[in-house]
Amino acid sequence: MKQVKYIKNYIGGALVPADSGEYIDNISPFNGEVYSYIPDSDASDVQKAVEAAERAFPEWSSCGLEKRYRILTRLADIIEQNLEDFAYAESLDSGKPISMSKSVDIPRAHANIRFFATAIMHFSSESHHMEKSAINFTLRQPVGVVGCISPWNLPLYLFTWKIAPALASGNCVIAKPSEVTPMTAFLLAQACEEAGLPPGVLNIIHGLGPKAGQAIVEHPKIKAISFTGGTGTGREIARIAAPMFKKLSLELGGKNPNIIFADCDFDKMIFDTLRSSFSNNGQICLCGSRIFVERPIYEKFKEEFVKRTQFLKIGDPFSPLTDLGALVSQSHLEKVMSYIELAKVEGGEILTGGTIVEGDEKTKNGYFLRPTIIEGLSPYCRTNQEEIFGPVVTITPFDTEEEVLEYANSIDYGLSTTVWTKDITRANRMAEQIQAGVIWVNCWLVRDLRTPFGGTKHSGVGREGGLEALRFFTEPKNVCIKY
Ligand code: NAD
Repeated sequence: MKQVKYIKNYIGGALVPADSGEYIDNISPFNGEVYSYIPDSDASDVQKAVEAAERAFPEWSSCGLEKRYRILTRLADIIEQNLEDFAYAESLDSGKPISMSKSVDIPRAHANIRFFATAIMHFSSESHHMEKSAINFTLRQPVGVVGCISPWNLPLYLFTWKIAPALASGNCVIAKPSEVTPMTAFLLAQACEEAGLPPGVLNIIHGLGPKAGQAIVEHPKIKAISFTGGTGTGREIARIAAPMFKKLSLELGGKNPNIIFADCDFDKMIFDTLRSSFSNNGQICLCGSRIFVERPIYEKFKEEFVKRTQFLKIGDPFSPLTDLGALVSQSHLEKVMSYIELAKVEGGEILTGGTIVEGDEKTKNGYFLRPTIIEGLSPYCRTNQEEIFGPVVTITPFDTEEEVLEYANSIDYGLSTTVWTKDITRANRMAEQIQAGVIWVNCWLVRDLRTPFGGTKHSGVGREGGLEALRFFTEPKNVCIKY
């Protein structure tokens, strides 16, 4: 798979520039340099993509499960065989450590494709028998041409998480990766050619959200939108898509609590809490950024957590020693820094971090921030209520289960929660009462692709994962036969 200086759209099986002929700078966050250019696409490119998808749909939707399975597993294999190229591109684009791209992002991308290629072979629908009268069965058919829009934090990982179930269930797709991290989607287009994906089945449009992304949402022939990104963007997409009666799946922001009871396995908890706080610089929607610790172990936790955080190595994403690479962009770094300033105004004390890291010769213009721990804030202040999406966490002591439940639920978001306790009854009680779509007990980010995934409240609408995704990308039709 080859990186290029000028990224192209993938429409009707061909790699083409945007109709406008314009490009947007693509910056590598570890050195702040423009290293490639992204097509500045608009509604006219989306129109061409939709036409190509409509041409491809009759054959792709009826070619049989086995054919789709074979092509998609071939695609997964090609990504796996080109792990090094994909991982390098992911780190160059996003600033994340190459070790993470190699062990998490790219392996998960080919796992997503393989998972849904296989899942569709086992997907079935229901029948409902009315005794001595009639039989109903549910015909599940692909929706048609669908749109998939993904964010920058886990670029190929989340792009494939949407595209794979859409394609496996027989839809043709217009997909848009984030303009902040477009390169692996471009490599994926090359891999699709090699895998023999028929032209027009998958079309990849690059460009800005409010222009290229919105043109996908607005297009009347695109019948469903699967979106992952910010809550504000999700609101805008819903505003446009709802009156057009499109199917919508929205995976949005989070501000997840990490609830630590005094009876937990301290060593396991502290190890995972470091991960859940700062993996990918806290730029994972599932990171736990509000840490609540039961008072008897609060001081011990604080001391150990601060110490371990100070050991994290920040810098060149291509060094095998790096724990945290660069934040994704200058504007994101500024946003995160503005929240650190806000925390100070709100009375928070910075226990560690909160400052920019000066890089070496290679990384001196990169966007590096020391992982930051803040204490002394009310659970209800803005720092604790708004999504920061960076390497910034707050720690707060609590005394009772009721109190911490109130803290955990006192927020508009409801994506995930981690609970640390050896008391299984309490764990179940908490799981029942916490308002979130994903609850982890004594672990974090353990993912089984068969499980329903998504958020409640302002964290989203609908569920992805396993059969939920295949159901989203198919339209159920009841057939009633009287006898
Ligand atoms: P974003 O909302 O800015 O952008 C996401 C995608 O939407 C990009 O491809 C962008 O170009 C596109 N977009 C922007 N405006 C659009 C518009 N008006 N119409 C159509 N498309 C548009 O989000 P981001 O900054 O890329 O990602 C970070 C956010 O994503 C965080 O809030 C994070 O919590 C969230 N996220 C959620 C999940 C989840 O599963 N719930 C997973 C990862 C990230």
